[in-house]
Amino acid sequence: MIYTSSHPQSQISIELDEQVLSAIYKHLTACHPLEGCGILLGECLDNSDIARRWRITEFKPAANRSPNPDRAFTLDPAVWVPCSLSPRLLGIVHNHPVSAPVPSLEDLKQLQSFGALIRIYMIVATEHKNPPNHSLYGVQSGEDLTYLLMKLQEH
Ligand SMILES: [Zn+2]
Repeated sequence: MIYTSSHPQSQISIELDEQVLSAIYKHLTACHPLEGCGILLGECLDNSDIARRWRITEFKPAANRSPNPDRAFTLDPAVWVPCSLSPRLLGIVHNHPVSAPVPSLEDLKQLQSFGALIRIYMIVATEHKNPPNHSLYGVQSGEDLTYLLMKLQEH
């Protein structure tokens, strides 16, 4: 599948392999009704001024170390720390057990601490399991050193 931004100034295109999407669904539906999380790895296909293209080729599950896993997630540092140093790091994914795949205020707050490291933010809604609903967002730096999420369109 391909996801793109509709903003003409920032052309983002992300390819997500079908097998990787299946692995993400499998892990997160197994975590349901709690939140689960993991890391998206892959490669950069183009990173010029006019186009940014990435391909997600691997999903690495990480245990959720949040004390409130029914409504929040914290990536296991044993998985996250080495991945955060990898040139293959593209993004992170977590599920919403009872709400739509839209970032919560807490998600946006957390994003500020690692927004510089990732390009892609994915949320899967696991309430309706067949098939789960998901959304991809591009990470963008906004004003005042904040990071924003821009919804990408699926094709
Ligand atoms: Zn969330």
